[in-house]
Amino acid sequence: MILSGHMTGRPWDFAVIGCGVMGAATLWALAKRGAKAVGLDQFSPPHDQGSSHGRTRLLRVAYAEGEDYTPLAREAIGLWRALEAETGAPIFDQSGVIYGGAPDNAELAAIARAAARFDVDLRVIGADFRAKIAPEFALPPAFSLLLDAEGGFLRAELAVKSLLRAAQMRGAALKTNAKVTLVARENDHWRIEAAQETLFAGAIVLACGPYIAEIAPDMTRFLRLQRRVSHWHVAPDGSFDRENGFLPFCFSLDGHWLYGFPALGDGQIKLGDHHFGADFAAMPALDRRVSADDSVTTDAFAAHFLPRLGPKIASSVCVYTTSPDEHFVIGMLPERQNAVILTGFSGHGFKFAPAIGEIAAKTAMLGTEEAIAPIWRLSRLFG
Ligand SMILES: Cc1cc2nc3c(=O)[nH]c(=O)nc-3n(C[C@H](O)[C@H](O)[C@H](O)COP(=O)(O)OP(=O)(O)OC[C@H]3O[C@@H](n4cnc5c(N)ncnc54)[C@H](O)[C@@H]3O)c2cc1C
Repeated sequence: MILSGHMTGRPWDFAVIGCGVMGAATLWALAKRGAKAVGLDQFSPPHDQGSSHGRTRLLRVAYAEGEDYTPLAREAIGLWRALEAETGAPIFDQSGVIYGGAPDNAELAAIARAAARFDVDLRVIGADFRAKIAPEFALPPAFSLLLDAEGGFLRAELAVKSLLRAAQMRGAALKTNAKVTLVARENDHWRIEAAQETLFAGAIVLACGPYIAEIAPDMTRFLRLQRRVSHWHVAPDGSFDRENGFLPFCFSLDGHWLYGFPALGDGQIKLGDHHFGADFAAMPALDRRVSADDSVTTDAFAAHFLPRLGPKIASSVCVYTTSPDEHFVIGMLPERQNAVILTGFSGHGFKFAPAIGEIAAKTAMLGTEEAIAPIWRLSRLFG
């Protein structure tokens, strides 16, 4: 790509603004294509000021949220494996994921339908297998358990670090502690004002997570910021350890998804509630203090379903950037040439990141939305 005009510094083909998991994956995808690409982040990823921090994320394959997700999850698994091969880092543990709920639970029925449609290895755990698969759970006699044998969990911060490392090994540049304060289209390129320097690029990818409205204020009318808190509990002995067979899980209970991860050698398990937490207006207003109110649902869950679990010892605040239909938002910003936006991951995007990076790289190179499935297109929001 040839850039015109007077500019200082090296002109980039692509600048990825925001290097959480989505920006990092995009940088890797661009670098794999031989593009001259730079990533900028206001902090030094992985960090705990966005949405990609913590040790773990669930990877579900039997996906009830729409028919485009299971193929995307499978594509992502292939790419996570390729990243592992490139970096030597153990990122994806295909442990399986347990889903639980009342026998008439609509979410479990939808998961089973999605699995059947895509031939996902989803197994019903009968009463005779409960003690083997989920011995630590105190379950009501009438309770359904399914095992998504293709799913598992990702080591989240290791994944971000590895994506950035792989991108750099392929020639991409990374600028950390480089907050972007302005992007402006000038002739046929973008001028990017970052801390300490001005850069120029033919196209930009905005992957700013919950900070997106600071760079693209138009997006505030579509997106909600949702505060979520994860909690760590003492796992009293080795029986909650991954190496002893404790599996990640996701239970659908009274309209909430309560989920958890095994201990990974640190004697702690993580619990969270996908649906519990308040909306807030903008990142500066995010309350990072944690109170007892933040764990009412996970505490009740632990007391009821995991009675041997020890006390809560730590909590951490994280943010969902949620779209109106909870589908991702990917596309070209209207009236802003050669600007791709990646947002609206609605609390379930991490697992797909390398596949999203592929879509973003193709979109940035094509300059159209054709590589994006209709349910994720930004243009759907403009009616
Ligand atoms: C508690 C919790 C649990 C979750 N569980 C799961 C799960 O089990 N499975 C799953 O698939 N997904 C899960 N998710 C969702 C997933 O983690 C997110 O969808 C994903 O991390 C979003 O990544 P991102 O790159 O869009 O955002 P972020 O990670 O927030 O990255 C955005 C980056 O942009 C940078 N930035 C912003 N503005 C600027 C600027 N002006 N200049 C420079 N840099 C900038 C930020 O510093 C940040 O590094 C969970 C999310 C949370 C919060």
